Amino acid sequence: WLPLADGPESVLAHLGMSGQLLVRPEAAPDEKHLRIRVRFADETGTELRFVDQRTFGGLSLHPNAAGGLPDVIAHIARDPLDPEFDDAAFHAALRGSRTTIKRALLNQSLISGVGNIYADEALWRSRLHYERPTAGFTRPRTAELLGHVRAVLNAALDVGGTSFDSLYVNVNGESGYFARSLDAYGREDEPCRRCGTPIRRRPWMNRSSYFCPRCQRPPRP
Ligand SMILES: [Zn+2]
Repeated sequence: WLPLADGPESVLAHLGMSGQLLVRPEAAPDEKHLRIRVRFADETGTELRFVDQRTFGGLSLHPNAAGGLPDVIAHIARDPLDPEFDDAAFHAALRGSRTTIKRALLNQSLISGVGNIYADEALWRSRLHYERPTAGFTRPRTAELLGHVRAVLNAALDVGGTSFDSLYVNVNGESGYFARSLDAYGREDEPCRRCGTPIRRRPWMNRSSYFCPRCQRPPRP
């Protein structure tokens, strides 16, 4: 979100499936799917462009809630790289929920910034099956998982994220290279890098879950 200098409102950006926010020189030719151009009062010669091949994304204006977030996203939790992320509160939420661990990692009211790919990677590093119930998590188990989540996110950020096609780019239009470092996601039938067992893929909530059936044993029914 982009706080406005004057007034209690913010611009909220949602990338949808294919949206891009690009910082481009004002003189650069328009992209084919340029939807919104934001000019600035300073004199850097750059502008912000919202480019979207499809139209599931967009920019919208919202009043700020407490904490300065646009009201419609005020329920979204901090991401685990935020210094104010509350590990103890996250652990308490896991213990108090009748849910499973991957659902919890993708539940943005508990933790944000973790999508399907990074959840699978963190679970592989933690040797946790995605269907493991969270109610039985011990404090050390939660701490180890959060450590792996943070390590995966930091490693991905270091190389610009995970770009599966040319739509996934940063504000300079550059792709990321973390796909080369994935241990679980997208590696169906390839050997687990820890034990050699072929990685499996299972349908999961209209997505897929990738896991090692030996390192990440399913919970007992
Ligand atoms: Zn394994």
